Amino acid sequence: MLRQRLLLLTFLLSLAGIATGAVLAAGWFSLPALIAGWYAADMLSGLIHMIMDYRPCPPGMGLADIFFYTGSRESEEYVTMQRARMARLNAFERISYDFKNHHPRPDALGRRPLWRLVGSTIIAGALPMGLSVNLAQALLPVPGWALAFAFSLLAGGAFAQYFHGSLHRKANPWFIGAMRKVGLLMTPAEHQLHHDTLQRDFATNCGWSNPVINRLFKALRARGYLDSAGLEPTS
Ligand SMILES: [Zn+2]
Ligand SMILES: [Zn+2]
Repeated sequence: MLRQRLLLLTFLLSLAGIATGAVLAAGWFSLPALIAGWYAADMLSGLIHMIMDYRPCPPGMGLADIFFYTGSRESEEYVTMQRARMARLNAFERISYDFKNHHPRPDALGRRPLWRLVGSTIIAGALPMGLSVNLAQALLPVPGWALAFAFSLLAGGAFAQYFHGSLHRKANPWFIGAMRKVGLLMTPAEHQLHHDTLQRDFATNCGWSNPVINRLFKALRARGYLDSAGLEPTS
């Protein structure tokens, strides 16, 4: 718990350092760079989601037992089984399973605590990248637009699964509603298009990149990739 708080705090301080540098060196290109970073984070959320949805689960790991479990998911039996099965997977396989598991039970994502949603993204990607930008700021004259781009990319990327979770939750903090109003975050109705078919609209931040990713999805499917068999574990 303390370790998680410290990691989150370090990341937020790193982001604050980038934001401060971006404001101090702001120029004409800062606003377009902020928007480009937000777009890039959205695209990253969509590409990773698309790959994880369709990447087949490793067979023989007993994942079908927990995926298709019909009893209560709060039961002792399920919890023990789930823990044991997940322990056999590497981080990549676990994330992939979580994405698939999200489709039949979308609301569970909305009930997860913040760290469960963003922890692995912060540890594996956002924090090391943020600290690298901080180091560059200390050693080099980094232009304001580059810091603006890095800020919105890292903020949007790190909290992508939190934003996704907010789409499956009724009660959200005020800023989620405000960001939806100005188009910086998508609405639950827009995200529902993904859950309706699992073949479109994979991006879950603002959705700006969905037209591009939808075209990419169609092109890959036409070439035989992203087979629907990968959407569920088989054994
Ligand atoms: Zn999906
Ligand atoms: Zn969803």
